Amino acid sequence: MRWRANLGFIVVFAVLIILNFAAPSQHNPFRQPDLTEPIGWTTYNKLTKLKYNPIMCRTKLDEAGVEYEVIPADLPGSRGSLGETLSLQKSLTPFNAAPLRMSCHQIAALYVWERHVLRPQAERIFGSPLRQIETYGSFSCRNIAGTRQRSEHSFANAIDVSGFVLEDGRQISVRRHWRADNDYGLFLKRAHRGACRLFSVTLGPDYDAAHADHFHLDMGSAETCK
Ligand SMILES: [Zn+2]
Repeated sequence: MRWRANLGFIVVFAVLIILNFAAPSQHNPFRQPDLTEPIGWTTYNKLTKLKYNPIMCRTKLDEAGVEYEVIPADLPGSRGSLGETLSLQKSLTPFNAAPLRMSCHQIAALYVWERHVLRPQAERIFGSPLRQIETYGSFSCRNIAGTRQRSEHSFANAIDVSGFVLEDGRQISVRRHWRADNDYGLFLKRAHRGACRLFSVTLGPDYDAAHADHFHLDMGSAETCK
């Protein structure tokens, strides 16, 4: 019986080796994350792992050309103290509010969304590059509306995105176009669906009235797509 167990072990090992060499990197759980490669089966897991590896996380932002400044951790024990966060200086597309303070893995997920969902979908649907992403902000020390629970915004783990501006001047608004049966509505649906593959929590107008005018995107510990 022992030779069977050994044979089983060898087969599993061989399959893992083949998988490691043959599977494209974005589908391969053994490869490090690369923010410039297309979204794959393992992208979300790799993004969440960056939470526990801040040095690798910052290296991945550097490799992708994201510019940021490091904000050191608050002194432990101070009220609402935060770990190390980053101030986003430059991504591919300008944000209307800057600088935005976020955790590294939140910025990594945002970059992948921007690069592999928003920008290609703007080109595909409207034939125009994306000029600006409109946001209500990222870091804010507060509770979830109507609760006593701290919001992911207070951990610099979230961003609220309210709309987009195209290079040709057209404006896409979550509040005005979420239910629109046209290209604007289609863009927002694809942006939302793409965010669900990358962020732990994606909330839009279908979640509740408090999100009628923006997408809430966060990399906290909960998992929701609505
Ligand atoms: Zn929010």
